[in-house]
Amino acid sequence: MRAVVFERYGEPAEVREVPDPRPADHGVVVRVEATGVCRSDWHGWQGHDPDITLPHVPGHELAGTVEAVGPRVARWRPGDRVTVPFVCACGTCPACAAGDRQVCERQSQPGFTHWGSFAQYVALDHADVNLIAVPDALSAATAASLGCRFATAFRAVVQQGRVAPGEWVAVHGCGGVGLSAVMIAAAAGARVVAVDVAPGALDLARTFGAAVRVDAGGGADTAERIREATDGGAHLSLDALGSPATCAASVNGLRRRGRHVQVGLLPSPTGTTPVPMARAVALELELLGSHGMAAHTYPEMLRLVEAGVLRPDLLVTATVPLAAAPGVLAAMGTSPGAGVTVVEPWT
Ligand SMILES: [Zn+2]
Ligand SMILES: [Zn+2]
Repeated sequence: MRAVVFERYGEPAEVREVPDPRPADHGVVVRVEATGVCRSDWHGWQGHDPDITLPHVPGHELAGTVEAVGPRVARWRPGDRVTVPFVCACGTCPACAAGDRQVCERQSQPGFTHWGSFAQYVALDHADVNLIAVPDALSAATAASLGCRFATAFRAVVQQGRVAPGEWVAVHGCGGVGLSAVMIAAAAGARVVAVDVAPGALDLARTFGAAVRVDAGGGADTAERIREATDGGAHLSLDALGSPATCAASVNGLRRRGRHVQVGLLPSPTGTTPVPMARAVALELELLGSHGMAAHTYPEMLRLVEAGVLRPDLLVTATVPLAAAPGVLAAMGTSPGAGVTVVEPWT
């Protein structure tokens, strides 16, 4: 098969022929029809993810058709249209048994712990636990975005963030996850403040339902402007980018007893990120993490997608062939961009 491969961190990836994957006993091989380009792929390529070994094939948000099935898979057959959360759970560890498969103790992640979906085929583990049937009405490009950014945003806003109608929700960083979060929060009846440094991203956020836009590059204190725009601070605030500055602005933009949800990854040379904990104590803030979304909780989201309440299809702003993927990956570092680029490996 053809795949995007990199041999060294941060050096250009290239498209080349590699051996086809084979399914594990509990796994499947999926013919990839669409795979999104995400900032996590860029972090992996930069060497920020300790799970990756070289050479490596990135890609973790995908949709496609089951091609081959391991002997212990009961629920899936060749020809089934599927997507998968980027956290593939084992199904049997204590976290999985408690229903928290998104933080499985023995998770695998395509594009991180093994070769991913910037390829014509990808192997996925524990298929009976992790695969999700794609509704007929959803295109592969749209379904691909569900695997990481849209599901991640849904869990952050709805399951972890507990958004409620009428609340102010601030979203810091309007890339793929952030724009998804804007759409999901607005659909839930919240009033959304979109925060970004890119005018294009803020314009898109408005079309997806943001009531207020804050240009974080505008000089004035971002958190103060959010507190002014929201009559004292957001009830719920997400750092969808992942940086010390956006994390702090998110926490500082909350009102009393507000909820901060950290969604963007925070790689750091020291392994820690400064957080305004004094404010968390004084205002009784909740600081929450959010990590993907377990497959068994997808139906709640899929019902809203099928009903047209949520429109992940609108987030897909470009589709490109596999040959363009190395360039798109490299560009994620300097310009994560507004919207979602989807790679179609068979074009
Ligand atoms: Zn991702
Ligand atoms: Zn597990």
